[in-house]
Amino acid sequence: MTASRNIEPGALPQAGGIALCVPHLRGNEWRYIQECLDTNWVSSVGPFVDRFEREIAQRVGAAHAVATTCGTAALHLSLLVAGVKPDEEVLVSALTFIAPANAIRYVGAWPVFIDADREFGQMDPAAAVRFLEEGCERVGGQVRNRATGRRIAAVMPVHILGHPVDMDPILDAAREAGVPIIEDATESLGAAYKGRPVGKLGDIACFSFNGNKLITTGGGGMIVTDRADWAKRCRYLSTQAKDDPLEYVHSEIGFNYRLTNVLAAMGCAQLEGLDECIVAKRRIAERYNEAFGDVAGLTGMTAASWAASVFWLYTMRVDPVRFGMDSRALLRALDAQGIQTRPLWQPLHRSAAMAGAPAMDCPVAEEWQATALSLPCSVGLTEADQERVIRAVRAAR
Ligand SMILES: *Cc1c(COP(=O)(O)O)cnc(C)c1O
Repeated sequence: MTASRNIEPGALPQAGGIALCVPHLRGNEWRYIQECLDTNWVSSVGPFVDRFEREIAQRVGAAHAVATTCGTAALHLSLLVAGVKPDEEVLVSALTFIAPANAIRYVGAWPVFIDADREFGQMDPAAAVRFLEEGCERVGGQVRNRATGRRIAAVMPVHILGHPVDMDPILDAAREAGVPIIEDATESLGAAYKGRPVGKLGDIACFSFNGNKLITTGGGGMIVTDRADWAKRCRYLSTQAKDDPLEYVHSEIGFNYRLTNVLAAMGCAQLEGLDECIVAKRRIAERYNEAFGDVAGLTGMTAASWAASVFWLYTMRVDPVRFGMDSRALLRALDAQGIQTRPLWQPLHRSAAMAGAPAMDCPVAEEWQATALSLPCSVGLTEADQERVIRAVRAAR
């Protein structure tokens, strides 16, 4: 575990420091990648691409999987095949990394930001249902935002930090409205909701294998769906929309979004270690929760009774009054000791990049941004390093 593998260049902890979340490469990665080089299968066609797709589909219990260059590309294609058009709207979590909202803008649609729930920070089902029922009207078989008049074209819940969204109320409301559900499951491979795997809850779902995710290919993504027609179309659009196996003829604008065999090889090796990674993440979360349980003003990271969380990124909340310092002061105090921590994302209804999106109040997402702090939780984090983090947090006030 070296700091040089850290995914946040410019913010590397000093040698001997403790990084937030770095890849864990301890399996067959070398062997499978070497096999690609030895056999000359290095590009976006090859046995590891097929195998990685098959194994992710199996893991999620989906009929089809399509590998992509990254999770954002997977989200972009999912929106396209789900039929989202320019000047339509997509419900999405307010408290998330910005990628899903960017993807909504790529297709010319507008995000409608739904606030987070207090306890888990996930898309609040009550807020999503309220918007679909009270904020929208039915016009000629379509559901339209009363405020903008635009058609609601999809719902995109984001399972943040390794924990699932409370999906059933959202699924019911979306089905009733006749709108497809695209899961952004990029942070939560391996998690489950009421026994059903994340990625199998809506109509189509996306995963990411970016460097800090639970398993990584350096960069990569995956679309999973039970719909054969959608999977076929994702594959087509991801390979420049080539219409003929031989001739270079195209009837649509396509993309160059296919994962390479070399990276898929790494993905296959990483997937073999997924369960081990989940065990490590859960152990790390349990230890932090136990250590901070008696500290006034710190709220640990828990999971709902209906959730099997993978605790991808351990995130606690800091009450500035009761703890005696706020999350950013704690961040700086830990940073001074070589311990890398991170705040969560600016809620997207506040993002200048999303100017023009329908205005929404998302007070809970704002409170999470102010109070949340993610702690070092690499799969390879040693017990000694975790104890050092715990001591530093407890002594910071
Ligand atoms: C990481 C992430 C993505 C995008 O994945 P990339 O592979 O980095 O493109 C999308 N949504 C969320 C919530 C993420 O955390």
